Amino acid sequence: IAKTEGGENFRIFSPTMTSQISRRNWIEQHLRQSLHERGKEQLQLVYQPKVNLQTYQLMGVEALLRWNHPQEGPISPAEFIPVAESSGVILELGEWVLIQAFKQIAQWQKQNLSIKVAVNVSVKQLLKENISQSIIAIANRARINPSMVQIEITEDHMMENLTQIINELTMLERFGFELAIDDFGTGHSSLARLRNLPVKYLKIDRSFVCNAPHDHKDAQLVAAIIDMGHSLNKVIIAEGIETTEQMELLQTLGCEQGQGFLFAKPLKPEELIKFIHLNHIAPTPYESQAM
Ligand code: C2E
Ligand code: MG
Ligand code: MG
Ligand code: MG
Repeated sequence: IAKTEGGENFRIFSPTMTSQISRRNWIEQHLRQSLHERGKEQLQLVYQPKVNLQTYQLMGVEALLRWNHPQEGPISPAEFIPVAESSGVILELGEWVLIQAFKQIAQWQKQNLSIKVAVNVSVKQLLKENISQSIIAIANRARINPSMVQIEITEDHMMENLTQIINELTMLERFGFELAIDDFGTGHSSLARLRNLPVKYLKIDRSFVCNAPHDHKDAQLVAAIIDMGHSLNKVIIAEGIETTEQMELLQTLGCEQGQGFLFAKPLKPEELIKFIHLNHIAPTPYESQAM
């Protein structure tokens, strides 16, 4: 807060103008506010399609959080999620995301659309006591089947609390949630450890996908991740596909699913419905799907 010239009025500096520490504080404080009843319209989930790379069928969507501050405008999750994680706000924020995403699944079901939703869950959230019980309770309240939900966890910080994380993931998997490792390749999970995780999907990080068509080493790395993933019975999802070249390479390498701007940006629920109709990739009605 700065005193304006010659007056007693105070105004808040735009956070881009202030030091990094006060920007963090600003984000933490305003993120907390956004979670309170009056500020909730600042937060929104958008949904990015994930397609089968052989058939281009819609396999599901990933829920991504958007924060539009009334004065500052949109703030990127790449910036506010780390602040939420280090300040603990992620617990409340993450719960809001789960509730919101599960409600959306239920709403689509009412429209006879069976759309699986992947939700990003922070390791900080996973370490919260009784987290798997809380998540199943949220699913029950929304009246959705856990098989409609994928939980994405990044490898970052996972290894520091591996035993507890394996316990929670195992419970979530038993409840019927599907699990995915996000940004795979950027962290330091070893093959041996990966074997112990009840995870069905590996998402290859965008940074490898991006350069693969032109960088032989990245291409080899992507090929190795896919082969290794398959040998551990994982389904591979490539993130950040922007060009047909990248898509074709991934198809050749046997990658099952893809996500990226080439197919669709993250979309608002109503835009997603339009996307589905335009592309004739309507998912099968809920009733006819095996539960
Ligand atoms: P992520 O989970 O790896 O999500 C993928 C990110 O890549 C998203 O960024 C998405 O918009 C972006 N993306 C998708 N396709 C493309 C593409 O073709 N090109 C490029 N350049 N980017 C693409 P976004 O939405 O900014 O989210 C960034 C990260 O913030 C996410 O990475 C995730 O780690 C985190 N995040 C977002 N929403 C949540 C949330 O609700 N909870 C938690 N814990 N983390 C979240
Ligand atoms: Mg993700
Ligand atoms: Mg990712
Ligand atoms: Mg990422």
